[in-house]
Amino acid sequence: MRCGKSYTMKCNLRRHQRVECGKAKTNVCFICKKSYYYRQELNIHMSVKHRLLHNILMSRRSVD
Ligand SMILES: [Zn+2]
Ligand SMILES: [Zn+2]
Repeated sequence: MRCGKSYTMKCNLRRHQRVECGKAKTNVCFICKKSYYYRQELNIHMSVKHRLLHNILMSRRSVD
């Protein structure tokens, strides 16, 4: 184990090592700078904490 994180479920540990361990959190809230490994987690954060839906915000980018 590289980071000392422990999980009771083996599948969670495997997921952690494959997806999270030693990697940067790339999904960052631009309002409060909180960061997440998964976009879905950021979406939930956006909707709960800021009452925004991330996909609505992201749609700005598609306007060329
Ligand atoms: Zn780890
Ligand atoms: Zn935030």
